[in-house]
Amino acid sequence: MPEMPEVEQVRISLLPQIKGKKIVKAEVRLPRMILHPSVPEFITGVEGRTVTDVRRKGKYLTLLLDNGQYIMAHLRMTGALLVTSREAPEPSFAKIRFTLTDGLDLWFTDIRTFGTMCLCGGSDPWTDKGYASLGPEPLSAVFTEDYLLQRVKKSHQMIKCFLLDQHKIAGLGNIYADEALAAADIRPTRYTDRLTKKQVHALYEAVNQVIAQGLRNHGTTFRDYQDADGHMGNNRDFLLVYGRKGQPCTKCGAELKQIKVGGRGSVYCPRCQK
Ligand SMILES: [Zn+2]
Repeated sequence: MPEMPEVEQVRISLLPQIKGKKIVKAEVRLPRMILHPSVPEFITGVEGRTVTDVRRKGKYLTLLLDNGQYIMAHLRMTGALLVTSREAPEPSFAKIRFTLTDGLDLWFTDIRTFGTMCLCGGSDPWTDKGYASLGPEPLSAVFTEDYLLQRVKKSHQMIKCFLLDQHKIAGLGNIYADEALAAADIRPTRYTDRLTKKQVHALYEAVNQVIAQGLRNHGTTFRDYQDADGHMGNNRDFLLVYGRKGQPCTKCGAELKQIKVGGRGSVYCPRCQK
């Protein structure tokens, strides 16, 4: 699943390709991927509009339109936004097509079809509930060590589940949550209210560090993620634990273990992470 660094990479690659382009035609092939408004309203709402900017918050991307409305996309498991020239072959699993000016197409492709799009803003008061309640992002001014400490102390849950909760911190998924815990030497099953102040400090530094590293490396690519140019990130080469079950810990050499936490596979070092 694309997380903050991967979605940011999509944004960076998408922006120069579609900024200033007009949406000539929209074609929705899988109606349930449009959350709001109705599919006909979505189509008439975007056709004829020019994309003025591409922004991101957490794992959501927003395509700003020249009338103040915006198309919001959530890629979820396997969604991708791709730009191709009109002559290029149609990408696989194409679910929504935006025919743009200058001979380009913007595609929303999705293998598992959990991805969503909506049209909101302007006089329409509808908002995506998940988007409206997003917590602060790593590396942002509002994500402070004190914020993390307060939220951690107030909750009673395993720290891995805490990190995945988008209302608490926006943008972390399974990869960066496991990586942050490994970098901070904290076990994924540790309860939040049992963390010491020193551990919270280490976690705060680690969350920012792994996200910054992911951004620098243009995201982490396993099977599903690619940016709007069809490129893949190389952060995979730098991972401490994610996807490394059974391999030696890079710090101490112990064999990395995998357990389930909140239904998600979690890889950790049984020796380093307390
Ligand atoms: Zn270790």
